Amino acid sequence: MAMQTSHTVLSLRSCSSFRKTSSLSIIDFQRRSAIELSSLFDFTYCHINPRSAFCTQSKRRSRGPVMAAKKEAKGTKQGDGKYKHTVDLPKTTFGMRANSAVREPEIQKLWDENQVFKKVAERNNGASFILHDGPPYANGDLHMGHALNKILKDIINRYKLLQNCKVNYIPGWDCHGLPIELKVLQSLDQETRKELTPLKLRAKAAKFAKATVKAQMASFKRFGVWADWDNPYLTLDPEYEAAQIEVFGQMVFKGFIYRGRKPVHWSPSSRTALAEAELEYPEGHVSKSMYAIFKILQTPTKDGLLDEFLPKLSLAIWTTTPWTIPANAAVAVNPKLQYAVVEALPFSPDTDSSLGDKDKRFGNVLKGQESPFFIVALDLVPTLEAKWNVKLAVKKTVFGSDLENYRYAHPINGQECPVVIGGDYITTESGTGLVHTAPGHGQDDYITGLKYGLPIVSPVDDEGKFTEEAGIFSGLDVLGDGNASVIDHLDERLSIVMVEPYKHKYPYDWRTKKPTIFRATAQWFASVEGFRESAMNAINQVTWTPSQAENRISTMTSSRSDWCISRQRTWGVPIPVFYHADTKEPLLNEETVDHIKSIISQKGSDAWWYMSLEELLPESYRDKASDYVKGTDTMDVWFDSGSSWAAVLENRNGLSFPADLYVEGSDQHRGWFQSSLLTSVATKGKAPYSGVITHGFVLDDKGLKMSKSLGNVVDPRTIIEGGKNQGEAPSYGADVLRLWVSSVDYTGDVLIGPQVLRQMSDMYRKLRGTLRFLLGNLHDWKAENTIAYDELPEIDQHALFQLESVVKNIKESYESYQFFKIFQIIQRFAIVDLSNFYFDVAKDRLYVGGASSFTRRSCQTVLAAHLLSIVKVIAPILPHLAEDVWQNLPFEYNIGNADMAKFVFESKWPEVNKRWLTFPQEEIDFWEKILELRTEVNKALESARTGKLIGSSLEAKVYLHSSDDNLAARLRNKCEAKVDADSLHRIFITSQVKILSTLDDLSAKNIPYSGEYLIQGENKIWIGVSRAEGTKCERCWNFSPQVGSFIDHPTLCKRCYDVIAGQPVPALAAVS
Ligand SMILES: [Zn+2]
Repeated sequence: MAMQTSHTVLSLRSCSSFRKTSSLSIIDFQRRSAIELSSLFDFTYCHINPRSAFCTQSKRRSRGPVMAAKKEAKGTKQGDGKYKHTVDLPKTTFGMRANSAVREPEIQKLWDENQVFKKVAERNNGASFILHDGPPYANGDLHMGHALNKILKDIINRYKLLQNCKVNYIPGWDCHGLPIELKVLQSLDQETRKELTPLKLRAKAAKFAKATVKAQMASFKRFGVWADWDNPYLTLDPEYEAAQIEVFGQMVFKGFIYRGRKPVHWSPSSRTALAEAELEYPEGHVSKSMYAIFKILQTPTKDGLLDEFLPKLSLAIWTTTPWTIPANAAVAVNPKLQYAVVEALPFSPDTDSSLGDKDKRFGNVLKGQESPFFIVALDLVPTLEAKWNVKLAVKKTVFGSDLENYRYAHPINGQECPVVIGGDYITTESGTGLVHTAPGHGQDDYITGLKYGLPIVSPVDDEGKFTEEAGIFSGLDVLGDGNASVIDHLDERLSIVMVEPYKHKYPYDWRTKKPTIFRATAQWFASVEGFRESAMNAINQVTWTPSQAENRISTMTSSRSDWCISRQRTWGVPIPVFYHADTKEPLLNEETVDHIKSIISQKGSDAWWYMSLEELLPESYRDKASDYVKGTDTMDVWFDSGSSWAAVLENRNGLSFPADLYVEGSDQHRGWFQSSLLTSVATKGKAPYSGVITHGFVLDDKGLKMSKSLGNVVDPRTIIEGGKNQGEAPSYGADVLRLWVSSVDYTGDVLIGPQVLRQMSDMYRKLRGTLRFLLGNLHDWKAENTIAYDELPEIDQHALFQLESVVKNIKESYESYQFFKIFQIIQRFAIVDLSNFYFDVAKDRLYVGGASSFTRRSCQTVLAAHLLSIVKVIAPILPHLAEDVWQNLPFEYNIGNADMAKFVFESKWPEVNKRWLTFPQEEIDFWEKILELRTEVNKALESARTGKLIGSSLEAKVYLHSSDDNLAARLRNKCEAKVDADSLHRIFITSQVKILSTLDDLSAKNIPYSGEYLIQGENKIWIGVSRAEGTKCERCWNFSPQVGSFIDHPTLCKRCYDVIAGQPVPALAAVS
């Protein structure tokens, strides 16, 4: 071994599989590896190409030297075995099995102890590359989504490292917010909870978050993710919080922060405002919906259009939230819709009992003596007739625009309210086409209310109970008794047509799983309207992958309302505002914000709770401290993480704004991508990222969402370490998990399950076998053995051309972040192409060509190039495998200035070898033909084998005839190739090949197995097989007439004689 460093010692000391191998005799090792290798490669090819005729025969062909060694090992006499020591079988300390449970942690320790990531990143002198980590929430264990995300990032970072970039990757965690606060609360008993102060709660929450960060970090490290783990960013760090306050302050000074009363999603169960991202819409929610009527008081003076129907005329509305009626301020219509005045003809009693729906109930209004007039959308008349079980006679039609400024009596307090023009949200899909408008309880209503200056009434408190403002309903729960009371009250006043259950999507608090309400409260807002145009322009400047992501974020940003950034919670960064005790006027200016920022940067945000007003106020306000109170709101956690560009990119050494890349799940279009964009555009005028990659969700193998109840959860830890039942859930290791990540098209949702993992594990094993073959056959390799390109046999030049093309394609796929293409290229090239052809043919010259012969050295030249390139191009995806190979490299690899690359990431991405790529097109085409011809020859050999003419392919002589003179000439040329490695019989792994100029003479007719084959779909080739001429060479198993003609070595062919004649046949033979 060339490398006498600590890691070499480590691999010998602790990798048990290596020890076992190295303690055996060399002969024993050779035998083992030869057997294992041959069986591995047979399996590899057959598995991937099951329909190929090659599979069935592969066991019996081309194993000359390998079979010889195998037979000898079994004690079968094969001559006297005196040449077996002249066979160069592969040798390597690189394990056949990954043994990932032991080996991966060893490799990670090796990287850690040698600070490989840091050193490589520092030594690289190319461009800097900054992938800014989106902070996962510091709550609970990691799931597959985390694994997909962090491994994708790591693949990108490691690729950039190999590209000589200065990579600085700071991992982050989102630490504040309700979920952690709730977890802490749930862990406390009633007594402790009562005595809980904000500071005690915050201390417990911080402790919980930090413990989770530690646990998650350990898991991320086990995935093989490289990051500056010693210096992560946590949103609870004082310097982070200070930077966030700074962003908030900047937005205040630019006029983008305001306090307003506005309906927000409010969770009575958590007593807080919620962001969109904190809502979920479970199936099966049923509301009590109500058709109600509001009596028209007067029509606009000039009009008189509907006067004839007064005073019996009412507006019919429909609502799923009857409890919002006390807050009603208007009824909205769509100006473009046609509305009808209908006469509701008396209720038919005989159909009353036939109504099967027991939950449906009719109001008193239809049971009265007189038939009333209602205004409803014309299109909805038939629907409503059926629903209400009543005849609706159309008396007159008008447009919605005609109804503007009609007045009706508020159904509860009797006050006069207007009919207003709403927007396109008013349709005839459901309801009556007229919308009960309560600006304090709905987003559309709020906007319509602003237009008409309607009062924003919201008589509901934090717990979801009516306030005194709601009069007789005061104290009732709006989602319970309150709702029912409103309905009863309206019914008594003859305002209800019908009540029925209504199933629809309704927002629930994602944490308490309880319904939310829309409620106007005093909140702090970021005015997205104020910088929406800049945000849209910024989106345009970013490279979005996949490109459809741009549409998603554009749509969400262009249509979103102002951002409510205040939360009524304790575990967060305070909104640094004071209120005047009497006037409630907020105090928020540059001086106050700066002062608080400097306090928080030193003491952390706890200071807001434990410091006095005098201390928190800047000097000029200190003597007025008694006039003020502290605000109690904290910031939305999306504001926390959305400030990370300021807290991290702008504040840390070696980072810069904007980042090159953000990589997160597609849900972050409305989460982190957006909150980061908004804070950055508002204060800096541009996006915090130049590029954004989004990935889908991880689903089970049937495409279903993973859930504990379905029992289909795939846990990344189980993939790596194995489950309780190792038969069902073996420990695959991090690299198999990473290989899966590379294999999926992450731009959509991705699937994983036991079957997929088994496939990944197979692929990994085969790739490991390929690398082991390369390592094993380079055991005596040194760079100075390299054969100059011009002198290489054509087969080798062609192999280098293929290698270089593959490396080029792989690089393009990394650059475009299409890792699944790399997976496909590697699978095809390293596993199928190489083992099927080049390695297969190479074994002869590697094993029996003579240790330092030209033919073996030229092959090793090609193998060394393959080993170095393959190990580097797979390293970003399979770092442990690549490092394991590197630590077992049988030769030194210098990176210039006589520096040795001790670790694979110290080597650079393989340099493009333009010379290799210049292999002429004509030759490329010819080699393609040869490869196809080889496949056809194998079919012919197989039928000869089935007919028991031959056993091993080396027992055959192949005849070819082509009527294409040009092709025939080239093939003949190949038969007589000056370079042994290029000759056709070596390529076919037969003992002889002859090109026939005609099929007419007798000799051709006597060839036992023959037939016409097509290559490339057009060239007809006649192929014949007979037994090979001459006698079998004892050493290489090729047949040759020359065997027996060398007196000192009567059992050898000419090739073997030349190899052996040059070296003494030692007394070794006597040893065995
Ligand atoms: Zn031979």
